[in-house]
Amino acid sequence: MALKALDIYKLLPKKNCKECGDPTCLTFAMKLAGGKADVDLCPYLDEEAKAVLGATTRPPIRLVKIGVGERSFAVGEEFVLYRHEKTFYHPPGILFKVSDTQTADEITAATVRVRDETFTRVGSDLRFNGIAIENTSASAEAFALAVKAVEDAADLPLVLIAESPASFAAALVHCGSYRPLLHAATGTNFREMCALAKQHGCPLVIRSDSLEGLVNLAKACNGEGRQNLVMDLAPVTLGDFIIRSTAIRQLAITRTIPDLGYPVYLDAAKTVQQDAATALGIVKYASVIITTPLTSGPTKAALTLRQNIYTDPQKPIQMNPGLYRVGSPDKNAPVLMTVNFSLTFFTLQGYLESSRIPCYMLIVDTEGLSVLTAVAAGKLSEMLVRDSIRKFGVEEEVSHRKLIIPGYASPLSGRIEEATGWKVMVGPRDAAEIGEYLHEEWK
Ligand code: SF4
Repeated sequence: MALKALDIYKLLPKKNCKECGDPTCLTFAMKLAGGKADVDLCPYLDEEAKAVLGATTRPPIRLVKIGVGERSFAVGEEFVLYRHEKTFYHPPGILFKVSDTQTADEITAATVRVRDETFTRVGSDLRFNGIAIENTSASAEAFALAVKAVEDAADLPLVLIAESPASFAAALVHCGSYRPLLHAATGTNFREMCALAKQHGCPLVIRSDSLEGLVNLAKACNGEGRQNLVMDLAPVTLGDFIIRSTAIRQLAITRTIPDLGYPVYLDAAKTVQQDAATALGIVKYASVIITTPLTSGPTKAALTLRQNIYTDPQKPIQMNPGLYRVGSPDKNAPVLMTVNFSLTFFTLQGYLESSRIPCYMLIVDTEGLSVLTAVAAGKLSEMLVRDSIRKFGVEEEVSHRKLIIPGYASPLSGRIEEATGWKVMVGPRDAAEIGEYLHEEWK
């Protein structure tokens, strides 16, 4: 059963020394109670207290970091089965797989693509995360050369996939302290793999096709001093994956089987339907997803889906309120008012750019609600529009006093005119019609 913050506080050394990164023992206790800190951060806890606290306060799924530096990513530390219960915190890393049987040019091209490719959506830059290199040739030398080709092209998180410890040893020489994820420890090789992971400070994938096998491997690797583990469920079909990953998430977050509390790995490239597997992995609890380099359509689908699933459902994606320019508007340019819901902003902005009419977008703070919802909830009002015009200096930017409001805000048009003294023009309900509207109505 979870301990309350006060019960946890009683077990802490109460030195208030800040070595855990918290200003006081009490704030550390509160973090522990919320599953947001690890007992190991306090160096003064004795083993008995650690055992009591660790069992109840650690996040139910361990946080595992892959790579170092700017492009490193962390996975795990999730708390719920369904995102609407709270939110999902750590989006899965999606890594492109290359083989050591490919040419150096092919390997470099895939690496450069992951390094440079960015897909911008609702104001965020979305990217793939790294490269997985497979020792298909079984040659340690070829594997090392492939890893070197990747390392020479970019500093990206890596997954090294091989069978033989000799291949890993040869490849790890080129990784420096970059801490790639090693795939995989099994019931037969876990001691050598743990030793390699320990020597190079790497996280480690454990692989078994049964939950019992994963529990045993996790315990065995813990016994070898390895805590940063990721679990490959060795699915043959997508059905296998969904059944096992869902069971693991349930058993881990309820702490029914704490030894299953590690992030999950999915090699979508090994399935017959890679695109479907990638989408399924994003939705159903995979934290590290391996694919062959995706084509344009699946790239947008995967990055968009990941962004949507890992957006906090309780917080609409918001823009900062303000006055935004589209093109180079002058004093006669139209001013279009709308809400600060990101999807509304970027959709409207896209259509305005296509219209090629320079203009201003006055974005008012409706706490991220869409136009229709904001009007219904009373979050979009004439006073808000009046205050926003003043606050963002719209009167200084244009010489006219005409404001275009969204079609769905038409019930407010009269009140906005009264409050602002501006002539209100009601725009279309559908942003797609804004170009045509401006060409016809803006004189
Ligand atoms: Fe308290 Fe331990 Fe944190 Fe020091 S390191 S402030 S003793 S919890």
